[in-house]
Amino acid sequence: MKYLLVLLVVSIGIYLWRQGRREEMRERAAPPRRPAAPAVGAPQDMVRCAHCGLHLPATDALAGSGGAYCSAAHRRAAEG
Ligand SMILES: [Zn+2]
Repeated sequence: MKYLLVLLVVSIGIYLWRQGRREEMRERAAPPRRPAAPAVGAPQDMVRCAHCGLHLPATDALAGSGGAYCSAAHRRAAEG
């Protein structure tokens, strides 16, 4: 009777182990979707720094009389 109990416990253990393995296999077959990458904004217009030629988004550029600049220093350098 004691052995029957042990057998029962072992078979339950094997059953649960197999159940877990099956779920593991399923997960491997269809990996959970990764969280979506942060949405990338719409493409931005790129402008070229009139002083150094660096390309940068128009929103980051500094407008000057001679065109767009990447920084105040370059605007100063180009326009005096
Ligand atoms: Zn520049």
